[in-house]
Amino acid sequence: MLDLDRFKEINDTLGHPTGDALLQAVAARLCTCIRDTALIARLGGDEFAVIEHMSKPVAEAAALAERIKRALSEPFDLGDHQVITGTSIGIAVAPTDGINSDQILKAADLALYRAKSSGRGTFHFFEPELDQRMHARRNLERDMRHALVSGEFELHYQPFVDLKSGDISGLEALLRWHHPQRGLVSPAEFIPLAEETGLIVPIGEWVLRTACAEAAKWPADLKVAVNLSPAQFRSKELVPVVFGALAASGIASQRLELEVTETAIMHDSEAVFAALGQLHKLGVRIALDDFGTGYSSLSFLQKFPFDKIKIDRSFVNELLSAKEESRLIARAVVRFAVSLGKTTTAEGVETKEQLDILREEACTEMQGYYFSRPKCSAEIAQMVGAEAVSAPVATRDWPAEDRRKIQSAAG
Ligand code: C2E
Ligand code: CA
Ligand code: CA
Repeated sequence: MLDLDRFKEINDTLGHPTGDALLQAVAARLCTCIRDTALIARLGGDEFAVIEHMSKPVAEAAALAERIKRALSEPFDLGDHQVITGTSIGIAVAPTDGINSDQILKAADLALYRAKSSGRGTFHFFEPELDQRMHARRNLERDMRHALVSGEFELHYQPFVDLKSGDISGLEALLRWHHPQRGLVSPAEFIPLAEETGLIVPIGEWVLRTACAEAAKWPADLKVAVNLSPAQFRSKELVPVVFGALAASGIASQRLELEVTETAIMHDSEAVFAALGQLHKLGVRIALDDFGTGYSSLSFLQKFPFDKIKIDRSFVNELLSAKEESRLIARAVVRFAVSLGKTTTAEGVETKEQLDILREEACTEMQGYYFSRPKCSAEIAQMVGAEAVSAPVATRDWPAEDRRKIQSAAG
C-alpha cells in the first residue's frame, strides 16, 4: 500500500485539476513497475495498493518497493506545472500477516503508517508489534479525549522555595490523570501522545485556566508556574488563551510563570519568540525549564526574554557524584546559570547535602522532594494558608497599567 508525500499540499496550492492529473500520471508510472499479472487499485485520495504473487515475497516485495519509490520520485510534467512528490510504502505478506483481504489491508496500512512516521520516502514491512502499539495508542487517544470532558484530569502543585528566606515563592502545576481503569497515569506517558495528536492544546488551556483559578485562592505573593508544550505555540491561540486565563481568575500577570524547555523554543523559534515577547510585555514571567539538557547557545540565551532558569534534575543529581568529572560538569552548569543573573531554581533537590552545595553556589531557589512532593490542591491550600476567595476580580478592576499592557500586547 502506498500514498504520495505532500499530496494535500499540491492539491491545495496548485488546484484540484493538477491534483487529478498527478494521480493519473502516478497510476501510469505504477503500471510500468509491475508485472502483467499484478493488480493495481486506487483506494481513495492519494492511496494506492498493488497486489502481486511472488515466490520469494520478502526479497521481491522489497525490490518492487524500491522500483516504485524511484519511479515516483522523478519529477512529473503536468502541462503548466512540474510537480515533485514521492511515496511511502507499507508491505504486508499473505498468509503470514493475514489470511483475508481485510487483515492484509489493515496490516499494510499499519506498515504504511510506520513508514510515514519514520520519515517520508521509505518502505516498511508489517510487524505484529505495530498492531499492538497502534491499538494501545488509539485507546489512549480515545481515553484522553474523554478524560477532558469527564473531568479525569487534576492538577497537583509542587512548591519552589527561596533559598535565602526559606519561604515558598510559588507553586508549579503538574498534570495528573485519574484513568477509570488504569488508575493514575503519569504525564510522561500521555503528554507526548497529547502533543502528537494536538490534544495538548485544549488540555493545556484547561491547565492554564485551572492553575490561575487555583492561584487566586493563595496569598497574593505566591506565583503559579505552568508548563507549556511546543504545540501550544504552534496553535497561535496561546496569547489569547493566557489572557483569558488571567482575566477569568483575576490574578496579576506578574504571578504567572510559563515554563518552556529549550528544545521547545529551538523549533519554530520565530513564532515562539513573538508569542513569548508579547506575554513578557504583559508582565508574565518566562522560565527556561530543564536547563542544561538542550543545546542553548550563548547568543540564544541573550535573545530570549526569560526571567528564570530551572536547572535540570540530572545536574542536581550529579553534584555529589562519585565521578569527579560528572561532579565538575554539574557544578559548572549551576555556576553558569547563576552567573546569568536571573532567578535560578534547582529542580529535583532530594537531600540536605545537595541543598548545601546549591546554597554555596548562590542558587536562588530550590524545588524537590526534600522540601515537598507535588500535592493536591486541598493539601496545598492548607500548606500556604489559602482562604476561600470570593468571585474572581474582573479585568476592569485590574490596575490601569496592566490593562494598558493587555490592550497593547493584544495588538
Ligand atoms: P518537569 O516540568 O521537569 O516537572 C518536574 C518533574 O519532576 C515532575 O514530574 C515532578 O513530580 C518531578 N519531581 C519534582 N521533584 C522531584 C524530586 O525531588 N525527585 C524526583 N525524582 N522527581 C521530582 P511529573 O509530575 O511526573 O511531570 C513530568 C513532566 O511532565 C514534567 O516535567 C513536564 O515536562 C510534564 N508536564 C507535567 N504537567 C504538564 C502540563 O500541564 N503541561 C505540559 N505541557 N507538560 C506537563
Ligand atoms: Ca516544569
Ligand atoms: Ca523541569
